[in-house]
Amino acid sequence: MEGIVLIFDFDKTIIDCDSDELVVGGLGGAALLQELLPTLPLNTLMVRMMSYLHSQGKTIQDISDCLKTVPIDPQIISAIKTAYALGCELRIVSDANTFFIKTILSHHGLLECFSEINTNPSFIDDDGKLRIFPYHDFHSSSHGCTLCPPNMCKGLIVERIKESLLQEGKRRIVYLGDGKGDYCPSLKLVEGDFVMPRKNYPVWELITSNPLMIKAEVCEWGDAEEMEEVLLKLINIILLSAQEEGNFQAMPRLPHEAFQQVLRVPH
Ligand SMILES: [Mg+2]
Ligand SMILES: [Zn+2]
Repeated sequence: MEGIVLIFDFDKTIIDCDSDELVVGGLGGAALLQELLPTLPLNTLMVRMMSYLHSQGKTIQDISDCLKTVPIDPQIISAIKTAYALGCELRIVSDANTFFIKTILSHHGLLECFSEINTNPSFIDDDGKLRIFPYHDFHSSSHGCTLCPPNMCKGLIVERIKESLLQEGKRRIVYLGDGKGDYCPSLKLVEGDFVMPRKNYPVWELITSNPLMIKAEVCEWGDAEEMEEVLLKLINIILLSAQEEGNFQAMPRLPHEAFQQVLRVPH
C-alpha cells in the first residue's frame, strides 16, 4: 500500500524559534545559557539550565506558560491539518524534549495529528523540576555517528522508521528540517523520498554545497506560506502518481469532495 510519512524537525521548522532558547531566555537564564553554550552540548546544557531555573524558584507552570506563548504560523497549522486529513502519517524527530513539544503542540490543537514524537525524554520529578534526558544514552555507548551530537543521531531514527515502514509495504518519506542535525537523516533518504530543507538555514547550506550526496528529491522552502505550498504540492504529486500506478489505497480522512478539491489545487 502506498502511503506518505512526513517527518518534521520541530524548532525553526514547525515553530519559527528555538524552544530551548525561548524558555531559558523567558525565565531569566539567558546570560548563563550564553556563558555555558561554548562548553557543553546543548542537551547537557538544557539539563543544567532546568536545575538552575528550578533553583531560582521557576515552576513547571512558569515553563508551561512560557511555551504557550510560542506561536505556530496559521499556514503551518493548516499544512499539518491538511496533510493529516489526506491520510499522511506525521512524525517528529527533534533535539528538544517531550515536555516542550507536547505542551506547544497540544496548545495549538495539533498533538493528535502526530503518531510519533522522537525526542529527548523528559519528566517532572517529585520536586517539581523538569528532568531532561538524552535520547541516546551516550554515557553507556556512542551511537557512532560523527555528524550528530552525542545525545541524538536523527539519521539512525530515520533508518529505524524506514525499517518499520518496510514491514507495512511501500511508503514515501518527506523530511522537513532546518538545522545541522537534519543533514544526517537527509543522507539516509533514497530515491522516491523528498527532503525539504529550509532555505538559507544550515541543512540547506550543507545539502546545496554537495547535492550529489542526496538521493532524495530536494524541495526547499523559506517561510510558512512556502512550506504549506511546497508540502501540499508534494503530497498531491505522490498521491496522483500512486493513483496512476493503480496503487492508490491511501485513506483520506477528509470527505471525498474536500479531498478532490485539494488534489485539484493548481501548481
Ligand atoms: Mg530545527
Ligand atoms: Zn547521525
